[in-house]
Formats: sequence, C-alpha cells, structure tokens
Amino acid sequence: MTVDAAIETTRPAPPSVLPSLIGLERHELVDAVVALGEPEGKARMRAQQIWQWLYRRGAVDFEAMTTLPKDLRSRLAERFRLERPAIAAEQRSSDGTRKWLLRFPDGQEVETVFIPEDDRGALCVSTQVGCTLTCAFCHTGTMPLVRNLKTEEILAQVMVASDALGEWTRGGKPKQLTNIVVMGMGEPLFNYDATAKAMRIALDGEGIDLSRRRITVSTSGVVPRIEQCGRELGVGLAVSLHAVRDALRDELVPLNRKWNIEQLLTACRTYPVRGKLITFEYVMLDGVNDTDADAHELVRLLRDLPAKVNLIPFNPWPGSRFTCSPWPRIERFAAILSEAGYASPVRTPRGRDILAACGQLKTASERPARVRRLADHAAA
Ligand code: SAH
Ligand code: SF4
Repeated sequence: MTVDAAIETTRPAPPSVLPSLIGLERHELVDAVVALGEPEGKARMRAQQIWQWLYRRGAVDFEAMTTLPKDLRSRLAERFRLERPAIAAEQRSSDGTRKWLLRFPDGQEVETVFIPEDDRGALCVSTQVGCTLTCAFCHTGTMPLVRNLKTEEILAQVMVASDALGEWTRGGKPKQLTNIVVMGMGEPLFNYDATAKAMRIALDGEGIDLSRRRITVSTSGVVPRIEQCGRELGVGLAVSLHAVRDALRDELVPLNRKWNIEQLLTACRTYPVRGKLITFEYVMLDGVNDTDADAHELVRLLRDLPAKVNLIPFNPWPGSRFTCSPWPRIERFAAILSEAGYASPVRTPRGRDILAACGQLKTASERPARVRRLADHAAA
C-alpha cells in the first residue's frame, strides 16, 4: 500500500452548502476578500481584521465583526459559513477531562478530548472520521466509515473547546488550552495537508497563538511523511511503536508491513526538529509485548535517539481481545527503561469513565442503530 493508495481509500468530504471561512490561511483569506469586491489596497487590512475576529476573539457570526463595514459583513455572510459544527454530545469525567462529539453537516462525527493538568491543558484532536489502519488494540480502527477531516473540521475542534473553556474572553488569565496533541481519531499523516494547514493556523501569533513546542503529532509510522512534518511544521513527534520486533508489530500495527521498525527509526533519527525529544508510545498488553526482554530490546533500539517512552496502559473497549499488563509488570518495564536513562512516564489513563482515553475514541454513529433495534424489540 502506498501513501496515496491509503489516502484514496478514504472518501472525500461531500461539499456543504456554503464554504466555511474557518480554515483559510492568511493569503487565501486576502484572496477571498478581494473576490468579494473589496479594493486590493484594503483587502489585506480587512483580512487581518477578519483573522483576529475568527482566531483571537472566536466570533461565531459576521454581525459581531463590528470593525468591518456593514456591507462587507453582509457580503461575507452571503458567501461563507462561520458557525461551529453541532455538538452532538458532551461529557465530563470525574477527573476533569472533557469530551465533545462533534457532528459535521454531512452527518459524520468525531470526538475531541480536553485533558486539564495543573499548569497546562492538552486538546486531543482527531484528523479523520475513523481510521483506515486497523491496529489490533484500537477502537477507532474498527469503525467502518472513514473520511479525512477538512482543515476547518480539525480547527473546529480547537474552536469548540476554546468556546467551552472561555478562552476567547479570558482577559489576563492564563490559557487553559496550551497544548495540542494530534492523537485523536485517525492517522494524521494520512491526512497531512489538512492537518498541516490547521496546525499552521493554530500556530499563528495573531490568532490562537500556540507554540510549536506545544503541538505533538502522533503517527503509527507513515515514514515518507515524517520528515516533511518536521521540516514544515517544526512540531513534536510521537511514534506509536508498541512492539520491538517486526513479526509482532506487523500484527499489532499493520502499517509495519509497509514500513518496518528499522525504516521507522531511521526516519526518527533524521527528524529535523532539534531540542525536543521524540516520544515513543508503547501500549502495555498483557503477555503480548511486556516482557523484560521486550524492554531491553526497546532500550537497544532507541540507543542513539533523543527519546522518551510513554507507556500507555491498554484501555479496554467492548469486544477488544487484549487485557492491560498488571501494574507490577508495567513498573518493572518502566524501571528497565529508566535505568537505561530514558524517561518513561506511565500515562495515567484520563477520562476512562467517559471512554475518552487513548484508543477508545469511536463515535456513537453505529450505536444508535443498535439501540434502535433493541428499542424495536422491546416495543414488539
Ligand atoms: N493514529 C495515530 C494517532 C491516534 S492514536 C497513532 O496511531 O499514533 C493515539 C495513541 O493511542 C497511539 O499511540 C495508539 O496506538 C494508542 N492507542 C490506541 N488504542 C489504544 C488502547 N485501546 N489503549 C491504549 N492506547 C491505545
Ligand atoms: Fe488508526 Fe492510530 Fe488507531 Fe492505529 S492506533 S487504528 S493508526 S487511530
């Protein structure tokens, strides 16, 4: 499977009534304003004002853009949409984690999760509806419907979370949404262009203004895109390794059959972002990938890499065939890594009670059908 073949297996998003103004880069916004008949000389300034309304003030309708002339506001409203996607469901975990299920105009849904910590808050963003890859332990990989998200749909997740957190109106208070982890549903490097564009917009200093160092893109190993991601975006890289031998990784992360561990680690060694550790994610599966020998081999594989390892306790989901390694096993595994000098935090599962933890994301799109069927039976 080539990258392009894999991309082609996803369906393009059907066009909706009006295009969204969210998701245009600055130069595209200038072009859009010119196309609306604004004189070239003023277009740049108008685009700048619109940019700030969108990404600094979180405006959700054109009428609110009071620094723009009224007629420009109405021309914008005739040609563009601004509103957020519908929030189909919202849940809050006992640990403060929040999860939103967003529904786009074509009815497709994705989840986005906000994980607050003491001095930072990370938004876990999805890049596809479902995922074309079928990692054996991941719930998202079991979704039958897959399509790439558009730039605006990736950004919409940041905007909806910012709305809910009061980020646009926080005054002098510190940001709550400080980090983005592109670790939600989907494989971001199979939807690179839209993901990259959304991140460039989120990085813009006159808008959402996140720092490169606070964005991390997680990939299951789309080797040909890794270098490009580092060079163009300069963001942090996380790699879903999960196994130290090809035979096992072929089973757990089927993309390994296309790009194996050695090719993946070579791409990591040449990742063009300096001064930031590469995170290796390793899901702890009982009796599968969690022996001392696995840990020692992991140390050997990472020996010349600026790396840290995130040990992720396996998060079960209905029907999954794995169980999580017992706690003492995880601790022993972590100890081997840290004795070898690798920071190896065990990721505390967050939002488990709302199925918001890693690999549990999957929209309810199938569930209502089943619920309906059950309801029909009950009524019969
Ligand atoms: N597709 C990308 C990003 C989304 S998955 C990737 O695979 O990297 C984010 C992380 O959660 C990945 O490391 C993934 O392997 C891990 N994950 C998936 N299912 C999981 C589960 N059930 N329990 C714990 N981690 C899981
Ligand atoms: Fe897709 Fe990542 Fe899940 Fe694998 S772990 S199926 S790449 S979302």
